[in-house]
Amino acid sequence: MAQIIKGDQIAKTITDKIKEEVEKLDKKPNLSVILVGEDFASEAYVRGKIKAGSRVGIEVDVIRFPADTKEAQVIEAIKILNNDHDVNGIIVQLPLPDHLDVVKIVNEVSVEKDVDGFTYYNAGRLFRGEPLLNPCTPQGIMYMLEAMEVELEGINAVVVGRSNLVGLPLSRMLTEKDATVTLCHSKTKDLKSITAQADLLIVAIGQSKFINNEYVKDGAIVIDVGISRDENNKLSGDVDFDQVIDRVSMISPVPKGVGPMTIAMLLQNTLRAYKGEFCG
Ligand code: NDP
Repeated sequence: MAQIIKGDQIAKTITDKIKEEVEKLDKKPNLSVILVGEDFASEAYVRGKIKAGSRVGIEVDVIRFPADTKEAQVIEAIKILNNDHDVNGIIVQLPLPDHLDVVKIVNEVSVEKDVDGFTYYNAGRLFRGEPLLNPCTPQGIMYMLEAMEVELEGINAVVVGRSNLVGLPLSRMLTEKDATVTLCHSKTKDLKSITAQADLLIVAIGQSKFINNEYVKDGAIVIDVGISRDENNKLSGDVDFDQVIDRVSMISPVPKGVGPMTIAMLLQNTLRAYKGEFCG
């Protein structure tokens, strides 16, 4: 029988600890979120962050801008937050409207408040093996694997999806733990033959139920990062859970898998930023 990796429960043990620590602080940590436009999914993610923050005592402020806001105005708001001692973490909710330069804007966030780990500096630190603040989703996956006591040394790990948000930083984190990593993407030839060799298969492509049992080795550990809707408009991941469940040894579901871990890491990064403690 496959073990289901209960991301929601692992995340809860992390957020319970954060709550305990925050209760002892003189002042509540603050996370400020810049939200430009009215993207439906972004609104839902931000609501999730506010709710999660309030559960542990972290204040989440949302700074809203209309969709046609000029780049200079967004940058000015980030500069104000950078200089505000009451603000500990800053995130720019993505995606931004097309006329805004994401890279330029994200890199305005001061390094020590960059709790999404998206600035060039924090990305560079991760890739040099000296991380300060790491991106939350890959960091959450690493915590998940640790909680499940997955031995990573020498393991054949295949990551599908090479985004700067998930796949690429994750491949670096797994390499740091001595896994042998193959990073696949949309141009990978014969993807099936590669994923079918994986002891650990992590999929972050955003294609509902793309990975069926032909892609998975017997006894593999599978982590599903994707969030999409299936043909019945039901929330689903990149992995066809019902098909692969009989083949795998462990699998993270969608929902209640990687999602809650991402939020827990955001809160943890905010607390670290509050304490000025960056090594993770
Ligand atoms: P991106 O769209 O930025 O990247 C998708 C990646 O998947 C690209 O590298 C792309 O390849 C690759 N890809 C797409 N289709 C295929 C395919 N058929 N075969 C192989 N590779 C493919 O997505 P993100 O990384 O931002 O997100 C991926 C998924 O994870 C989404 O569903 C997103 O909603 C979810 N997500 C979930 C989070 C959570 O907390 N649970 C957090 C962040 C994301 P190429 O580079 O060649 O284009």
